[in-house]
Amino acid sequence: MFDKEIKKVSLVGVGPGDENLLTIKACKCIEDADVIIYDNLINPTILNRANMGAKLIYAGKISGNHYLTQDKINETIVSYALAGEYVVRLKGGDPYIFGRGGEEAEYLLQRGIDFEIVHGVSSFYAGLGYAGIPVTFRGEAASFHVFTGHRKQGEPLNLDFAGIAKLEGSLVFLMGISNLGAIVNGLLSNGMNPDTGAAIIENATRYNQRVFRGKLSNIEEIAKKENIVSPALIAIGNVCKKNLDFFKKDGLPLSNKNILLTATRSLTEKMAPEFKALGANVCEMSLIATKEMEIERDKFTLELELATHILLTSANGVDIFFEKIKKYDLDIRSLHNKKICVIGSGSASALKKYGVRADFIPSKFDSKSFLEEMVTELNEKSRVLMLRAKLGNDILPNGLKAAGIKFCDIPIYDTIIDYRRKFELNKEIKNFDYIVLASASAAKALCEMIEDMNALKERVVSIGPMTTKALMEFGIEEVITANQYDVKGIVDAIRKL
Ligand code: SAH
Repeated sequence: MFDKEIKKVSLVGVGPGDENLLTIKACKCIEDADVIIYDNLINPTILNRANMGAKLIYAGKISGNHYLTQDKINETIVSYALAGEYVVRLKGGDPYIFGRGGEEAEYLLQRGIDFEIVHGVSSFYAGLGYAGIPVTFRGEAASFHVFTGHRKQGEPLNLDFAGIAKLEGSLVFLMGISNLGAIVNGLLSNGMNPDTGAAIIENATRYNQRVFRGKLSNIEEIAKKENIVSPALIAIGNVCKKNLDFFKKDGLPLSNKNILLTATRSLTEKMAPEFKALGANVCEMSLIATKEMEIERDKFTLELELATHILLTSANGVDIFFEKIKKYDLDIRSLHNKKICVIGSGSASALKKYGVRADFIPSKFDSKSFLEEMVTELNEKSRVLMLRAKLGNDILPNGLKAAGIKFCDIPIYDTIIDYRRKFELNKEIKNFDYIVLASASAAKALCEMIEDMNALKERVVSIGPMTTKALMEFGIEEVITANQYDVKGIVDAIRKL
């Protein structure tokens, strides 16, 4: 199915923003990359796919200032490629539609560096589509014309408005927001009907998409009033009067709420559909990742043999446990006489994937309830094997010790903070209504990376008391805490507001 050959450099179009518009090939490139160079238009959810070992380099623009100049971008791509790294240059939309992909390819070609273009869905039609506007429509627009509305500083717009105003098809201007006045005037003064439909789509297909419709005569006024910012598409033509919306989700409990999920990639992927089904716009930016810990095979098999109860405290722990069984070539039937105990619905459903039903789930999904309820099931013959995170809390071991129960606590994974996401996090944070934290380690990661603590005020939703405690240690007081420690609990807490 996939292209097996790996190039040194892939110039990859990732579409306008919605991660579901990534091509299969783009996904593969992102997952394989050693170095990813991305720009402003890249949705953080897309970067969640990057390998933990990959280097992430931001090359975009912030309020008009290029973070890396085009020359510097070119040099960066080449230097990593020459060092033998697989470089993936991510570009919004399609790499060859504006955005200077052609120049980058030419630069590589001239230096004899093996490259490929991975085409992407362009914003000029998909962005319109997500706003309910078909770029062509029988009887309405039989062609479309795409322009850059960008001009070099101090120079006039280099567009032939006399010719453009006469075109029959839909007009789309990219990079045109700061020159909207000149575009509108150019069309009107060359005789275009002021009642022609017009629309502006900001952050098309993304969680923070905004759509404004009007006419050629008033679209500029609308843009000013609504304070529209880049990236935005300007569409002119009567197709803009159509409203074939499929993207906006009104009337659901979390409609129009922008939600940031910060958990590990596997958890955000599980949580995102649940939030989306309730109408939320979701951005996945994993601030933490887990790393399997090495355990000597002999120790693992011995403890497994001795245990009467195996205690798994997270979905991730469950996955790693079964990984180890496979890796150490153990037989699943050796677990037949052991009780498998999990802490919540997430770990229980992870267990189900492996065809195992949990013997024990506490009525409330936290360590304290788990301990209280579990201890009643144990006696002096029991031996509990705890397989959990390296930095797990003390509640479980202390409680078992106090109850005189034999146990062995083996860390099977460690949670690491993904500091590579710091830049994006601070760039995007203001866009979210709610920031969801599903563990104390995600809370720690967020607080360590965030530059402006005020950005978190009254917007942080915590999955439970341990996470809230971690947040409070960083001085964040106005935390919304779920009563039930899972996605449903989080959603209920948000809905109550
Ligand atoms: N290669 C890209 C275009 C790059 S030029 C493509 O094929 O879509 C950058 C311009 O594209 C932005 O200034 C904006 O006008 C437009 N654009 C790209 N993505 C967009 C989005 N998600 N929403 C609105 N406009 C977008």
